[in-house]
Amino acid sequence: MTEKPALKLKRLQDLTFKGKRVLVRVDYNVPMNGSKIEDNARIRETLKTLEALIAGGAKLVLISHLGRPKGKPDPKYTLKPVSEELSKLLKKPVAFACDCVGPEADKAVAAVKSGGVLLLENLRFHAEEEVNDPAFAKALAKHADLFIQEAFGALHRAHASTAGVTRHLPGAIGFLVQKELEFLDRAMGNPVRPFTAIIGGAKVSDKLAVLDKLLERVDVLLIGGGMAYTFLAAQGINIGKSLLEKDQVEAAKAIIEKSYNKKIEILLPADHLAVREIKPDAAVSVTQAMAIPSDLIGVDIGPHTVEFFVEHVAKSKTVFWNGPMGIFEMEAFSKGSFAVAKAMAEATKHGVITIVGGGDSLSVIAKAGLVGTMSHCSTGGGASLELLEGKILPGLAALAS
Ligand code: AMP
Repeated sequence: MTEKPALKLKRLQDLTFKGKRVLVRVDYNVPMNGSKIEDNARIRETLKTLEALIAGGAKLVLISHLGRPKGKPDPKYTLKPVSEELSKLLKKPVAFACDCVGPEADKAVAAVKSGGVLLLENLRFHAEEEVNDPAFAKALAKHADLFIQEAFGALHRAHASTAGVTRHLPGAIGFLVQKELEFLDRAMGNPVRPFTAIIGGAKVSDKLAVLDKLLERVDVLLIGGGMAYTFLAAQGINIGKSLLEKDQVEAAKAIIEKSYNKKIEILLPADHLAVREIKPDAAVSVTQAMAIPSDLIGVDIGPHTVEFFVEHVAKSKTVFWNGPMGIFEMEAFSKGSFAVAKAMAEATKHGVITIVGGGDSLSVIAKAGLVGTMSHCSTGGGASLELLEGKILPGLAALAS
């Protein structure tokens, strides 16, 4: 990226590992249903790095967080099922220690042989993790000779396991982080044009900075989802009872003005699916235009909008998508998001670079049966947006030499 100093980062392939203890920060914050893993994508994404380390003779000590256990042990958030899943995927035993620091962890680390793998219990069972406590970071670092950062989804947080630990150990980025940076930096820094960004989801306030930054990069910006209504309201259009962030109306106006000055097209929904009440079996009407009748709530982009969003995707050479086009969790309001996902999958077949970031957009892709059809699905929603905003991610800054 142009305005950001390039960080000097070592890569996994720059180091040798034979007989060394390697602490690998992974992001195994997988969706769970009880003790069942609902989607193992985040585990699969790390296999290339783990297999390279195993082949290189490293002694692997993996650390991760899972959920929000509020700084104390909670069996609901144990990583034990993840160690079992990883063992299946790696086709080799994965040891598990029921703490990430202290005597239990030390004993388990000492038992790891070259080519062996150990997963330590959830980092967030200790409140010290999220406050980047120096003593906790030191205790984690004590487990290893080298550090590999592979948790792209956690890089925008300065925690003990992402930032603190790098003070004590030489380290490098793993293959997944390399791939994420390559795609996201390429999209922002030197995109193949035309470059279209599709931004949806609920909150303008969350995405304001990225929208502002995207205007310096994209040729076309398509806005859908709940946040579109604040933009429509900013233009004096009636949005009925749809989601409105009143305190963001001025910011939305400023974005529209900036796009006008820069001659970047911003396209807002031209029609909507609207309901009287948000419930899965609500009677749905299609608005005839941008305006929404006073008693209705917009829940998805309408068919005409779907048509021109799909046309824009087909005309682009690079497409970045973050955030659903409607309340996709309810099937009746998922058509717009599914249509964007399908259009991007189709475009990928024709050589368009398609990049998707954000947990909800990834859920849409999974629900639509389109896993594996994009050029790149980012494993970190927050981290990918911060990278696109041009921010330096604390987890990378800490690792840079
Ligand atoms: P975000 O975390 O900002 O990307 O927002 C994701 C959420 O936006 C999802 O849970 C969607 O249900 C929600 N969303 C999308 N469209 C709408 C809408 N029209 N009204 C309310 N919520 C929406």
